Amino acid sequence: MKHLRNLIIDMDGVLWHGDTAVPGLADFFKTLHQQQINFVLATNNASKTPDQYVAKLARFGVSVAPAQIVTSAIATADFLATSTAPAPLATVDVFIVGGDGLHQAIQQRGFPILSVADVMERGRRAQVVVVGFWPDVTYADFAAGAVCINDGARFIGANPDVNYPSEWGPLPGAGAFLALIQAATGVSPTVIGKPGAIMFQEALRRLDGTPENTAMVGDRLNTDIAGGKAAGLHTILVLSGISTREALAQANGQPPDDVFVDIMELAKRLEHGD
Ligand SMILES: [Mg+2]
Repeated sequence: MKHLRNLIIDMDGVLWHGDTAVPGLADFFKTLHQQQINFVLATNNASKTPDQYVAKLARFGVSVAPAQIVTSAIATADFLATSTAPAPLATVDVFIVGGDGLHQAIQQRGFPILSVADVMERGRRAQVVVVGFWPDVTYADFAAGAVCINDGARFIGANPDVNYPSEWGPLPGAGAFLALIQAATGVSPTVIGKPGAIMFQEALRRLDGTPENTAMVGDRLNTDIAGGKAAGLHTILVLSGISTREALAQANGQPPDDVFVDIMELAKRLEHGD
């Protein structure tokens, strides 16, 4: 692992479970600093803004810059901006089933965002419906999204994760929201986050890294590891989140290059520098 200068690190299931940090979190980042390893934090969770992650990490005693955080909300907004060109973005109405992260990223790009009332009471229709995880989602959000998709809107998912690790075990995630809307409309979504290439490309750009000197650290074989492999990165699975040793033994895909119990064990290995 001596060749590694950069890490792309997933957050849920790697750094914390819900609001509980994994043991050794602050020390892990101290090790990265001491070893002069650069990092970007890359999450499929689209519900929060980079600033909200900066604040969460600060509560755990870890200081990072907003530019070190890439969310699937940012990747989704990038994708929308590229894929709707040459139409002016201000002419493409978007309806969002999702939280602050998606709202901020899509608004910053200049897309008008419709509300539930715009759709259900004022008869307006979005050309694009974007869906991401949001713990305060309501039936009205799903209903208005389905109405727009039934009228021909593009259906975009911020990420495919059907669940996410919490203090209570796996809870329904964005992929479960996508399945609900897909079942109701018969339309399948275009899905953006990991394992798709967009987030890995953006993280490498911010790190000024290459696939040769960069590793993906994650807890999911089907997103973090599969996507990292496809991007040509060194891949490191930690067993502190969703994917277990049993899942690893049964996996059909290529195995990760390294497996650690958690980031404490990974930090020890990085300290030894071998
Ligand atoms: Mg994770």
